[in-house]
Amino acid sequence: MLKYLLLLAVVAVAFAYVVARARSARRRRDEPPVQATVRCDRCGVYVPQAAAVRVNGRAYCCVEHGRSR
Ligand SMILES: [Zn+2]
Repeated sequence: MLKYLLLLAVVAVAFAYVVARARSARRRRDEPPVQATVRCDRCGVYVPQAAAVRVNGRAYCCVEHGRSR
């Protein structure tokens, strides 16, 4: 009987180890990916693609720089 209890304990520890590993791997995957940046066509500042102002296919850091000179 004790043999089965020991076996059960070993299986439980192994299962807990696998679950913990899977959980930490999932957490790592949830981290935000490195954001792609674009260079402002006027001042050369790098801004995240989502925050960039696009005018006529060119990227700018702000609306002012996107206006025609
Ligand atoms: Zn700019």
